[in-house]
Amino acid sequence: MTRLTLTFDNGPDPEVTPRVLDVLAERSVQAHFFVLGKHLTDPGRRALASRAVAEGHLVGNHSFSHETPLGEDARADSVEAEILATERLLAPLSNGSLRFRPFGRGGVLGPHLLSERAVATLVARRYTCVLWSSVPHDWDDPEGWPRRALAETAAEPHAVVVLHDIPGACLAKLGSFLDAVRDRGVAMVTELPAACTPIIDGVVVGDLDGLVTGRGGSVRARGPEVAT
Ligand SMILES: [Zn+2]
Repeated sequence: MTRLTLTFDNGPDPEVTPRVLDVLAERSVQAHFFVLGKHLTDPGRRALASRAVAEGHLVGNHSFSHETPLGEDARADSVEAEILATERLLAPLSNGSLRFRPFGRGGVLGPHLLSERAVATLVARRYTCVLWSSVPHDWDDPEGWPRRALAETAAEPHAVVVLHDIPGACLAKLGSFLDAVRDRGVAMVTELPAACTPIIDGVVVGDLDGLVTGRGGSVRARGPEVAT
């Protein structure tokens, strides 16, 4: 691995996100934060998303409720309730391109991630869809995830790692992980590799087969299925 893009999902969290931001600032590392719309309705959490933007990080949309993956969400208004409701809350906080990270179960890539309506909306709204290459399970292994992250990404030229700024996840080992990455000569960047962005600014540039309900394709599983 020569380049690493760090992403933090499911926040902002009032206890954890400030400390994650501190750890990143101490090392001059910038990252992506994929936040939940339901958290942005809370002024304290919303202020943390603003702080992340002010400190040079990129803040993106990770759905409103994070309850049912869009490919399995039977509600007629699922796209409005999840993507667009969060977009409205995020709009005053961020500028530049819109980014959406679908959620699955424990980082499993599969047809449950997106619906056809979700894809059409991401295209129409000129989103970039941000996937990942490593999910080291920080939420259920807060001590051991760095070893897994380094092993999973060793062979990749540019890795996109999913961590979580929530209690009991990456925070305790984040600083030592970043130091280990830096010691290996890896550049930590916010750019995203083509393999992790099947839609860029509303243009479908990658393979969505296997990522959209009803399109078929094989499930590109990484790790066991767990609910997070
Ligand atoms: Zn998530």
